[in-house]
Parts: sequence; C-alpha cells; structure tokens
Amino acid sequence: MAQPYSLIIHGGAGALEDLKYEAGESEFKESIAAILAAGRQRLAAGNAALDVVEYCVNLLEDNPLYNAGKGSVLNENGQVEMDAAIMNGRDLSAGAVACVKTIKNPISLARQVLEQGDHVMLASEGALAFAKFCEAATCPDEYFITEARVKQLAAAKAAGRMTLDHERVAPIQKLGTVGAVARDINGNLAAATSTGGLVNKRWGRIGDTPVIGAGVYADNETCGVSATGYGEQFLRTVLAKTVSDFVYFKGMDAAAAAQAGIDYLVKKVQGEGGVIVIDNAGRCSAAQSTSGLIHGWIELGGEAHCKLG
Ligand code: ASP
Repeated sequence: MAQPYSLIIHGGAGALEDLKYEAGESEFKESIAAILAAGRQRLAAGNAALDVVEYCVNLLEDNPLYNAGKGSVLNENGQVEMDAAIMNGRDLSAGAVACVKTIKNPISLARQVLEQGDHVMLASEGALAFAKFCEAATCPDEYFITEARVKQLAAAKAAGRMTLDHERVAPIQKLGTVGAVARDINGNLAAATSTGGLVNKRWGRIGDTPVIGAGVYADNETCGVSATGYGEQFLRTVLAKTVSDFVYFKGMDAAAAAQAGIDYLVKKVQGEGGVIVIDNAGRCSAAQSTSGLIHGWIELGGEAHCKLG
C-alpha cells in the first residue's frame, strides 16, 4: 500500500539574521517553495526517493544563490572545487565525488558512482575521467564563478580566515551548501548533499559532504540525514551516522535524533552547523547550532513549510 511521502531540503547553515532586512529572504523562500513543489509532484507520482533527492539537489546546484554547482564558494586560489554524495536507504548503496571541477551537477556524478557500484568515492582527476566516461555535463570555470563569490573570497582573505558561506565576514552572506532527504511512497529513504565547501579553503581540501556517515547518511531502518556546517567538525564526529545511530540504538524519532546529533556536535567539538532528517515513519525535523539554517519540508504529504532560522 502506498505510504505518505516526505521531503526536506536545505540551503546551508550560518548567521542569517541580516537576511530579514534584505531581498535575499524572499529569494530563498521562493526557491525553496518551488523546489518543494517540484519534488512533491515527483514523489506523489511514485518516483523513488533516490531520484527525487538527486533532482532537488540538481535544482539547488543550478541556482547561483546556493553554495553548490553554479555559485560554489571559492578556494584560496579563487577556484571552485566541489564535493557531493548520495545514499540510498533501501540497500545502503552510496556514491560520492570529491574535489571536482567543471562538473555541472556533482550530485548526478555521485549518482553515477552509486549506479556503477564498484566504488563509493572518486576524487579529483580520477572523478573527472569517470565523468568523461559517463558523459556527465561539464561547464567552463566561468560558469561556476559568480561576482558575489569573488567578493566573498576577498573579504575572507582580508579577514585572514576560512569561513562558512553564511558567516558574517563578507558583506554578501546569503548563499549556502545544499541537501535533500526524501521518503517515497514505498517507504524508501534517500539523502543527498552537495557543496562548494568553505570560503578560502586550501586547494585539495575535502570536507564532510562526500564522506558517507559525516555529511550524508540514509538507512530505511533509521532515517535519512543531510548535514551542513564546518566540515572538519562533522568529519570528526561522523555526525550523519551518529544521528542515524540515535534512531537505531536509542529508538529516537527525527526530532529527538536531530537535536541529539547537534548536542553531540557542540559538546564534542563545539561544532557549528545543522542537519535535516526524515525518520523511517516519515517525520521531518531539523536542528542547528548556528543561528540560521535555510530549509523547507513537506511531512507525510502535508503542507509545505519554509524556515530560515
Ligand atoms: N559542510 C561543508 C564543508 O565543510 C560546508 C557547508 O556546509 O557550508 O565543505
């Protein structure tokens, strides 16, 4: 029997208070609402959670508002290097790409890694060779680099820091890493995360996003999770799997597990970031240690909601 579907997406965590006073707030809300509506259509039509999270992340990657695909933040050399991962909760199959350039939709390349099945993660030049083999869409560097990102890097360099996309160092802060979690009408969970990483990061740096269990996780028995925040802290706490473990070992629901995960992140490494979660009953939740987390959700086929805080 068909079960009610659920979908939750995010556009990054950070300090977002200033958005209230800028046009940015409505831009974010509109794009989140449009992506939820498109995702809803697909889930209602019976598409698999795995297809829907890839599709929603594609839309987020194509929107220069967000720190993924087009509009990714810049590394210390002014280049875009992207990470992405996708996981199927039905069989724990997963695919990831790390430190890739010129790939229009890194999440779709990660999906190809999952489908090929031999490996879970491909990085850098090897991932690009694989992209060629799969005939994945590529774009020149100029496609990814926006004026806002050039200014943001200059501000981070002037401050001598590496920053989250949404941090209040640069005048332009209204952009973010992306992710999606879905539960389809067959009760299958899937999760996907895609990012340009941290502003002014070292070239070659790989964050939590493409690491299964750190920036993404999905298991039909527990929940689907997509994370955003300082990747090194999420790597050290294996945060997405930790959230799943709160469901598996403690029997928590999405809300309790999301909060327990963030409490653990803060307690262990004073971590900054957030998670979105759908549990195996289709309940949606999010929690964060930053003041803001751009996200929106549809729980069990109900109304669409959007929240920036
Ligand atoms: N987690 C990402 C990274 O560290 C950044 C983010 O979520 O904004 O690469």
